[in-house]
Amino acid sequence: MAKHLVLVGGGHAHMVTLANLHKFVEKGHKVTVIGPSPYHYYSGMGPGMLAKVYAPEDIRFATKHVVEKQGGTFIIGKAVQADPKTKTVFLESGETVPYDVLSFNVGSYVPKNIIQGDNTGVLSKKGVVFGGRRAFKIKDYIDRKFMNKFQQIEKK
Ligand SMILES: Cc1cc2nc3c(=O)[nH]c(=O)nc-3n(C[C@H](O)[C@H](O)[C@H](O)COP(=O)(O)OP(=O)(O)OC[C@H]3O[C@@H](n4cnc5c(N)ncnc54)[C@H](O)[C@@H]3O)c2cc1C
Repeated sequence: MAKHLVLVGGGHAHMVTLANLHKFVEKGHKVTVIGPSPYHYYSGMGPGMLAKVYAPEDIRFATKHVVEKQGGTFIIGKAVQADPKTKTVFLESGETVPYDVLSFNVGSYVPKNIIQGDNTGVLSKKGVVFGGRRAFKIKDYIDRKFMNKFQQIEKK
């Protein structure tokens, strides 16, 4: 009997499943992938992007495209809850997605409120990478701050 496989998150842990998604579809199953962006940015290449060795387009994986070209459905959204009794995933938008089989791999994030004291100007690496092109603006900001600091030290 055909089942509905739902993958929440289109990142590293789901990569192999995403590459083989067509195999589920060919067997008559439905596959839905949920993620906040059509792309997944590879954090390992984040430093290279911030150094402007790579453009944001070079370090990302086209999750939505890969899913759709294999016959899957990609939903742009964020899962906020799952109910195993009714086999339903709830999205931030209010949308609900029923599933037979569910896989959650949504990575990690750095909650800013755990930083004690003044957290102005503190950026999480993950946030920077996920920011894509916005990361360049952040990098320019950091460069300016460092430059000002170095100039102040040199004057002393
Ligand atoms: C700098 C750095 C270096 C690392 N180096 C290594 C290494 O060398 N070797 C190693 O094994 N591991 C390494 N890791 C750890 C590895 O990246 C993680 O263990 C892995 O990415 C987790 O896989 P994941 O698919 O759960 O998360 P991710 O690959 O982070 O993917 C999560 C995806 O889910 C999406 N998402 C987030 N929240 C939601 C939501 N609510 N609803 C829907 N989608 C959501 C995100 O947008 C993202 O696309 C490193 C991590 C970092 C930060």
